[in-house]
Amino acid sequence: TDQLARIEAANPALNAFITVDREGALAAADRADAALAAGQAAPLTGLPIAHKDLFCTEGVLTTCGSKMLSNFVSPYDAHVVSQLKAAGAVSLGKTNMDEFAMGSTNESSCFGPARNPWDTTRVPGGSSGGSAVAVAAGLVPAATGSDTGGSIRQPAGLCGITGIKPTYGVVSRYGMIAYASSLDQGGPMARTAEDCALMLNHMAGFDPRDSTSLERDREDYARDLARPLAGLKIGLPKEYFGEGLAADVRAAIENALAELRRLGATTVEISLPNTHLAIPAYYVIAPAEASSNLSRFDGVRYGHRASEYGDLAEMYARSRAEGFGAETQRRILVGTYVLSHGYYDAYYIKAQQLRRLIAEDFKQALSQCDVIAGPVAPTAAWGIGQMADDPVQMYLADIYTIAVNLAGLPALSTPAGFSADKLPVGLQLIGNYFGEARLLNVAHQLQ
Ligand code: GLN
Repeated sequence: TDQLARIEAANPALNAFITVDREGALAAADRADAALAAGQAAPLTGLPIAHKDLFCTEGVLTTCGSKMLSNFVSPYDAHVVSQLKAAGAVSLGKTNMDEFAMGSTNESSCFGPARNPWDTTRVPGGSSGGSAVAVAAGLVPAATGSDTGGSIRQPAGLCGITGIKPTYGVVSRYGMIAYASSLDQGGPMARTAEDCALMLNHMAGFDPRDSTSLERDREDYARDLARPLAGLKIGLPKEYFGEGLAADVRAAIENALAELRRLGATTVEISLPNTHLAIPAYYVIAPAEASSNLSRFDGVRYGHRASEYGDLAEMYARSRAEGFGAETQRRILVGTYVLSHGYYDAYYIKAQQLRRLIAEDFKQALSQCDVIAGPVAPTAAWGIGQMADDPVQMYLADIYTIAVNLAGLPALSTPAGFSADKLPVGLQLIGNYFGEARLLNVAHQLQ
């Protein structure tokens, strides 16, 4: 009840939560108390958490930040949700996000933007902005997020917390409302790398209901936290430290790298020569997949339906025009265009070829080092409204995070000090496939 009271007091100013599930949380807390009393505690028994509002939660509103789903109560739990429940975690509610996870600022949410607790006139980043705010403001110790092009790492960086996007296929996408299925990956956001490891232990795992879920043995992501960094080779991509990176962010990153060297790591310059192609490739592939995934929202079985229409086609058109916000409509239009008969080869096939080149860059780079380090975002948090009318400027701010999703690699954001305005700066660490435990180890040593 203390934690719920904190949320209810803080949420009007921060807008971190779309739904606070008071009843569900209190019932789950009672079950946790009973389990503790009976000596049957699970690893996360009684841990208060929150879910990004694209994870389906049985009996609780799941809106995806969209008017289209503003009345949608899911009949089932996402795999991530049911696993965390089974581990004893208590969900306090659902966090704010960019509509359908499309955005980097939380401003495309139909519920209004979440606000950065370090300065409430600034964006918290996105799309998992509500989860980042909830953790950074101390409303929950951990929350779930999803990362299609940076949506866990970037808000974690801008809010001064830790967030990890696992290797594609490690966390099941079952019950996670799809944006771009070949890029989407769920992951934890928490204060520390250690807390992220404990969360990830109960989020990862094979699930036959997601065809891209990987059948691997369970692993303990906390197993390497204490490992010394002596001998660690860190690659610094020269493309991530070029023009466009703000001087104060660069200084914070350099400080963090100096600390890692003091802890025994060495750094080498590496190159990811196709970095400049990541944003163009992503903004073909992600909208293409989104246009296909979002075709299911037609106002027939669930979601928003226009109240006035003539025939069936008009019902679809009106329901979608009313239910989707501007950014979502923009992505559907772009995606439909690049997949259309006359343009498929010129855009979609080309983008898939670039995706391969980008993955090859990482393969080459990771043969020269153990982990790659760099910034998460080119600047610290910017003002709410500052990029609202300039989607291309907003897309460009994802330059350091997006390539990782195209390659399917794991990556995290860990706090690296502060900007000139005393706002948090995130250090990004990128690992090889299934290198989560090593990334969490490096972040833990730095923290
Ligand atoms: N900002 C990127 C986009 O708008 C990434 C979002 C995400 O990772 N979900 O698509």
